[in-house]
Amino acid sequence: MNEKGVSEEELFAQLSSFSNADTNFKKVFSSMCTIPHPVAVAAQQQFSLSNIGDPGLFQGTSQMEAEVIRMSASLLGHPDSSSAFGHLTSGGTESNIEAVLHMKNRFLNSFSNAENAIENAVENTVENTVENKSNNDQLNQFKPNLILPKTAHFSFEKIANLLDIELKKADIDSKFRAVPESMESLIDENTIGLIGIAGNTEFGGCDPVESLSKIAIKHNLPLHIDAAFGGFVYPFLPESDSSAKSSSMKGNNIKAGNKKIKFAFDLPGVTSVSIDPHKMGLSVIPGGILIFRNESVLYPSLDKIKVKTPYLTIKYQSTLTGTRPGSSVAATYAVMKHLGAEGYRKNVAYCMDLTDYFQKELNKIGLKPYIEPEINIITLHVGDGKDKTADREKTEKIRAELLEKYGWNVSATKTVPALRFVLMPHVTKEDITAMLSDLKELLEI
Ligand SMILES: *Cc1c(COP(=O)(O)O)cnc(C)c1O
Repeated sequence: MNEKGVSEEELFAQLSSFSNADTNFKKVFSSMCTIPHPVAVAAQQQFSLSNIGDPGLFQGTSQMEAEVIRMSASLLGHPDSSSAFGHLTSGGTESNIEAVLHMKNRFLNSFSNAENAIENAVENTVENTVENKSNNDQLNQFKPNLILPKTAHFSFEKIANLLDIELKKADIDSKFRAVPESMESLIDENTIGLIGIAGNTEFGGCDPVESLSKIAIKHNLPLHIDAAFGGFVYPFLPESDSSAKSSSMKGNNIKAGNKKIKFAFDLPGVTSVSIDPHKMGLSVIPGGILIFRNESVLYPSLDKIKVKTPYLTIKYQSTLTGTRPGSSVAATYAVMKHLGAEGYRKNVAYCMDLTDYFQKELNKIGLKPYIEPEINIITLHVGDGKDKTADREKTEKIRAELLEKYGWNVSATKTVPALRFVLMPHVTKEDITAMLSDLKELLEI
């Protein structure tokens, strides 16, 4: 650290040069985040000193957090939003960690012998290294597992490592959504819960949560819905084709956004939902929301993670993190109140219009999306489909050239070799036309 402080003038000159090295979201098709709404930025500044980890000192912020949870629960079809229980997080990853942590605690408690059994298995392994393999089997026998579709977000890989659980990945259908029968067939006595995705990261598909909800109830398992991206999209899609912009869709067989999809608390088996205001919610980073149907679905896990907090104004803290940014709470409150459902509907309509436009432009150059988009994500196959490895190499080459030659930020998908475009509010039709013309040149078509 420098001994003497630098002047403000010099400092902000430095900051400007750092800031110039960051994106301003021009030419960015790869991000699920976007430029936050100005009211969110203003509210973030106004509440920059607020710590919602100590709600007694920040009672105003605390009231806003309660209201954000209530508004979000109601957005997510909660039959009684005042009984919803939740808090703001740093984003989808933290929300998923916490949801799965509660599942694991519930599992360990309900199988009262499980913990002892795991301890015994561990002791046996240590005592008897010769029979390593059979002891490992014994260990695995008691290893909690989580069932999720293959298209689940990579945060679950971290969670598996962090919480020492096994991931059982269910098959996906031709539209990259979980196959309910496959999910159900993976359930065994060590299953701690099920995960469904509303708006999967690579394709934007929504898992058949209605079926997953029935399976969860039948097997008495918690069901967490990861709607980090889709949470601020699906509820705002137009109800029917007739209310969608039919003129721009003619002849393109575009079905994007033609019906309301149930994916949250309106389905009785759903126990928790995660949505990210810092993605399509137009709030600032960090902004995640984790909501449980009610506090009782967390019994007895909540007691396990509750810790006494002698230095704070509250007696207990049961969130994963301690000090939390009240500024994010204020920003999210501000943008949700200011836009209202009408504002978010407009935002989603803009992004869906871009998505339709993108498809029309693709048509013109003889290309089409890998799957018909449900929401504002388009995946595009650029290989010939004969050889996966060759297709992957070609995709990577095109992706790199789009960036190096033309400055376009596009990502590649993992599940299939394809380019992925997220049509966020910062994108324009002009961007799409320009990018596709560059892509055409690269593909020599
Ligand atoms: C973005 C995303 C996440 C992770 O969210 P972060 O805010 O980056 O932690 C989790 N799940 C899905 C489906 C996502 O799209």
